[in-house]
Amino acid sequence: MSELLTIENIDVCYGNIKALSGVSMHVDQGDIVCLIGANGAGKSTLLKSIVGLEGLTNGQICFDGEVICQAKKVKHTTDQIAKMGISLVPEGRRVFADMTVEENLDMGAFMVRDQNVIAKKKEEMFDFFPILGARRKQKTRSLSGGEQQMMAIARALMSSPRMILLDEPGLGLAPLIIQDIFNKIALINKQDKVTIFLVEQNARMALKASNKGYVMENGKIVLADKASNLLTNEKVKAAYLGE
Ligand code: ATP
Repeated sequence: MSELLTIENIDVCYGNIKALSGVSMHVDQGDIVCLIGANGAGKSTLLKSIVGLEGLTNGQICFDGEVICQAKKVKHTTDQIAKMGISLVPEGRRVFADMTVEENLDMGAFMVRDQNVIAKKKEEMFDFFPILGARRKQKTRSLSGGEQQMMAIARALMSSPRMILLDEPGLGLAPLIIQDIFNKIALINKQDKVTIFLVEQNARMALKASNKGYVMENGKIVLADKASNLLTNEKVKAAYLGE
């Protein structure tokens, strides 16, 4: 498999605080990879730096062989990075609550000009997430947490990305709903060949859904392995799986 996303030795600082330190990792084309870690470990900071919302003080990030962010040099805007094929799925409640489901999906297609393409893509999303089709004219705030998360995923898929970055897709949701969402993520990966990178505090669900996993502590990658190995790793079991 070829590397689609390559993160090389990056540091990210907020003022004097180093939030990420010497982080290196990669995601292969077609893979599902997760990053687990406790609250405040630096997971969201990493996602923000991939989409150009935080600058690097050291290192670089490449997508499909092209540098998208390099310390003190190259820095593409979030729009440019989206056009290259990376779509961020923010945590489920960060949707436009006063817009309808359909209007939210239109926002996801902001860089698609052809209205026919947008209409077709929306119907695809409504087939894939029937609950969103049934609620297409409703204000998003009336949706449950799980439905809002599904809408956030559908919105990210509107631009037909090559890769989606998911920020805590399970946050605040019941285990059965999280399972539904992870089932959908697996289908998106398998059927649409979208590469998946997800960040989660729910380590067990994330590792079960992934092929490979990274563990982050205090802004550093401390473990990287096949997800199945991490699920049986004693340190991971004690620190993240509650065993
Ligand atoms: P969570 O699961 O709570 O979102 P996280 O693993 O995503 O945690 P980050 O949000 O990336 O962690 O935070 C990493 C560190 O950087 C934390 O110590 C946090 O307090 C700090 N931090 C994050 N954003 C900022 C900011 N805008 N300004 C200053 N410090 C920040």
